[in-house]
Order: sequence, then structure tokens, then C-alpha cells
Amino acid sequence: MQDNGPVAQTVGTGKDDSMPPTATRTWADLKQDQPASRRSIPEGLWLRCPSCAQMIYRRQMESNQHVCPECNHHYRIGAAERIRQLADTDTFVPMFTNLRAKDPLSFTDLKAYPDRLRAEQIKTGQNEGCQAGELFIKGRAAVAACLDLTFMMGSMGSVVGETLTRAIEHATQKSLPLVIVSCSGGARMQEAGLSLMQMAKTSAALARFDDKGGLFISVLTDPTTGGVTASFAMLGDVILAEPQALIGFAGPRVIQQTIRQELPEGFQRSEFLLKKGMVDRVVHRHQLRSEIARLIDYSGV
Ligand SMILES: [Zn+2]
Repeated sequence: MQDNGPVAQTVGTGKDDSMPPTATRTWADLKQDQPASRRSIPEGLWLRCPSCAQMIYRRQMESNQHVCPECNHHYRIGAAERIRQLADTDTFVPMFTNLRAKDPLSFTDLKAYPDRLRAEQIKTGQNEGCQAGELFIKGRAAVAACLDLTFMMGSMGSVVGETLTRAIEHATQKSLPLVIVSCSGGARMQEAGLSLMQMAKTSAALARFDDKGGLFISVLTDPTTGGVTASFAMLGDVILAEPQALIGFAGPRVIQQTIRQELPEGFQRSEFLLKKGMVDRVVHRHQLRSEIARLIDYSGV
């Protein structure tokens, strides 16, 4: 027998010939009875804020730079949205978009790695988990690279590392300030050792950039973890962080299990790291553009 879900017990008397007897009607039938206007409300038009638990109108949140209008919770955003927020209108020129990952380990988990990459490319419309290029921020020319959380959790594979390195080298050659916005689950396990090598490669490129007197502004957003935190993200001349962003190497649960001690409140959040001197300033998303422009002016690059 086909299961049509729970049976509605309390609606109708069963006397109306045009309606099936009460006992055989299901929730699915009731849904069909609803007026069209109620059925046509698109899903996800409203959402519950994970921080303040208020019901908020999605469009309002999105037009507020993906920040909750009630409590200032900063929603996670992808690289395309990040660049749209940072760059002056139509000034972003994407670079290094022809890089493609290889699969030297023939890695397969639930899916083969090339299949997974293809699925992510179709889902996001992006080639890889990092977008880089030249842009203007409040009229100041810069090179920016943004990790993309929507693409395999912003994990750092060889293409992400190579894109970052080329962006750093481009900023070095052109003597432009460099802005990297990080959000990542860490190294990409499908590329094993190759992804770990990106830590050394990006850090070495940043050392050469520093030798030439370049300005590197690192922006940490929720979440910045693993090999990204352990390399370029923490090498900024100035390190900014968005409010309440999770920033760490290993997650709090792993640390708690290892050291067997209660972790302090707010551990691994931006404000905690600001107090401990790991972050220079916590900046609201609405002020990020102004803050970066001001830092570029101060540094005189
Ligand atoms: Zn909220």
C-alpha cells in the first residue's frame, strides 16, 4: 500500500459528495485545497536569523550587504558577492581564470575528484575556489583575491594557491596594494600534499612582496581555518576581521578533546583574537571599503 502521509481526521463531515470521505483524505489533499496565493509564496523568502532568531525578509538582508538588519549578524557570502561589495562599480578585472586542477592522486571519496569539481563548477558558475584581479576600492587601485566559500568550502587546492600566488606576484610587479579576503575550511584533502605546498608557495610570494615594500591587507571572514590561517591569512601587514568570525587552525571541539579543558567564552572568534593581538581591527562589513581605502592612504603605497 502506498503511504500518503498522515491522515487528516478533523476536516469535513464526509457528507459532501464532491469531497472524498474524511478518513481517506491526507495532508497532500489539504495542500491542494489551499488558495493559489498561499501555495505560491516562494520558499526562502523569509529566513530565521541564526544569531537573534528573528524572522527577517531575505531581500532586506541581502540589500544590507548580507547583514542581519536586527542584530548585525554577518552572513557568509561567496567571492562574487564579496567582490561586488568591495569594488567600485564595474572596475573589477578578473585574472588567472584559465587555471584548472589536476587529479594526480586519482582521488575518490563519494565521487571521483574530477566529477566533484565539475559538479561544483556547475553549481557555482565559477572555475575554482578563488577569484582574483585588479579593481578600484573607493578610487584606489589594488589587486584583490577572494576565496569562495561556495566552492568546496573555499578549500585551498593547487589552483587556489596558484591564483593567490599569481595575484601576489602581479601586485609586486605593479607596486599595487594587495587585499586578500579569506574564508576557508583549510587545505583541500583531495589534493593532499599538493594543497599543503600552497601554504609555503603563497607565504614565499608574500615575503618577496614584503621585500619590495608592498602593502598586504588581510581580511578574515567566517570561517578562516586550517592551512589558510596557518599561512597567508595571518601574514598581513594589517589584519582585519569581520565581527564574530570563526578564526583558528583546528576547530574548538578538537582542541577541547585534546587538552581536556574548558575553552574560554568567545574562543576563536574575531573579538577574542583582537584582545589577544592576533587581529588588528574588527570591522563591520558596511565599513570595510572605507577602512581598506583609509589604510591604503595611510601606507602611502
Ligand atoms: Zn539577527
